[in-house]
Amino acid sequence: MKPVSGTNLEQAKAHNRRVVIEMIRTQGPMTRSELARQTALTVQTISNIVGELVASRLLKAGEQRALPRGQPVTPYDIDPDGAYSIGLELERDHAAGVLTDLSGAVRARLRRPAARPGPDAALPLLADMAEELIATAGVDRSRLLGAGIAMPGRYQGEGVTSLSPVALPGWQAYPVAARLEERLGMPVLVENDASAATIGERLYGAGRGLSNFAYIWIGMGVSSGLVIDGQLYRGSQRNAGEIHHMIAVAGGKACHCGKRGCLGAYLALGAVHEHLGTADDDEEAILAALERDDPALDRWIAEAVGPLRQAIDFYELAFDPATVILGGSMPPALLARLMERLEPLHPPVDPDAVRQIPRVIAGATGKDTSLLGAAALPVFSETNPQFDVLQKPVG
Ligand SMILES: [Zn+2]
Repeated sequence: MKPVSGTNLEQAKAHNRRVVIEMIRTQGPMTRSELARQTALTVQTISNIVGELVASRLLKAGEQRALPRGQPVTPYDIDPDGAYSIGLELERDHAAGVLTDLSGAVRARLRRPAARPGPDAALPLLADMAEELIATAGVDRSRLLGAGIAMPGRYQGEGVTSLSPVALPGWQAYPVAARLEERLGMPVLVENDASAATIGERLYGAGRGLSNFAYIWIGMGVSSGLVIDGQLYRGSQRNAGEIHHMIAVAGGKACHCGKRGCLGAYLALGAVHEHLGTADDDEEAILAALERDDPALDRWIAEAVGPLRQAIDFYELAFDPATVILGGSMPPALLARLMERLEPLHPPVDPDAVRQIPRVIAGATGKDTSLLGAAALPVFSETNPQFDVLQKPVG
C-alpha cells in the first residue's frame, strides 16, 4: 500500500480544474459566480481556472447574458473542438474505431474485418485505423488527448492483458498499452468492454453526474463496472466486476468454468443462442428472432430474469448505488424486452425512501457501447476529478 502525505499546490489546482470541467459537463453552461457557488471555491480562484481552461480551449465563452442590474455575465461551456480522443475496439471478428470530440460527438468512424487477431496482426491494423480516423475527421493532431482501447477479457496490471482462452489468442501477458503507445505516439489506455462502457456512461450517458452507480454489461459475457465516489473501482488485481461466474442459482446449470448456476450461463447472449438453437457468433439469428417474435426469447427471459434480479439485489445491498444501469452489446430491443419483465425486483432495503431516479435504468446498448466507452477513457483520465490526486504518494 502506498503511504500518502499532504497535497501540493499543483495537484490541488489540477483537481480544481477537473471539478470545474465536470460541473459544466453535467450541468451545462455556467457563469463564474455560478461556478463559485456550486464548487465552494472563491470567485478569484474560479476566474483563474476558467481563464486557464479557456486559454487551453477546453472551455469557451458563450453569449453574454443581461442581468436586471449590473454588468452582463458570460456563461462558459465545454469547447467540443478543444480536444479529441480515439476509441478502438478489438473483437473476435473485427476491429472498429471512432474519433470523438470533447463533447463525445463522433467525428469519424470505421470498421475492419479481422479474424481472431493476435498482437502481430492487430497492432499495425489499429495504428493504421487511428491514422485514417485522424485524416478523415481532419482534426488538429496536437489536440488529441490519446486513445482508448476496449478488449474482451481480464487484465493483469497496467494495460497488460490476461485474456481468457475463449477470447483472443496470443494476448496472454501482452503489454498492449505500451506497444500501441509506441506506434501511435500518444497515450493509450486499455480497459475491458464493461469498464470502458461504464466510463462512457459516466461521462456521456445514463451515469452522467452520478458519483455512485453500478453497471451490468450483458454481451457474449456478463461483467460489470462499479463507480464509487466518481471513480471506477478496479479491485486489487484490476479484475473487479467479473460477475459472469458469480453463482446466481444454487446447484443450477453446469457452466464451462466447472461451477453450477453461474449468472452468465443464464444471462449472456450464449444462453439466448442455446434457447434459439443457433451458433454463438450468429448475431443475425437474434435479430431475426426479435423480428418474428420467437417464443424462445420469452423462454430465455423467463430463465434469465431471476438471476439478473439477484445480481441487482446484491449490488444494491452491498454498495447502495444511486441506480443500476443495464447495458452491453446485446441488441437494444432485446434489452428492452428483458427490462419489461424485470419487476418485481427484490424488496429494497428502505422501501419508503424517496428515489431521485429508478432503481434500474437502461444504458447504451448495441455495437458502439464499448467503442464509445474506449474513446471516453482518455477524456475521463484528463478531466475527471480524482480524489487520489490530492494524496501525494511518498517516495
Ligand atoms: Zn461459471
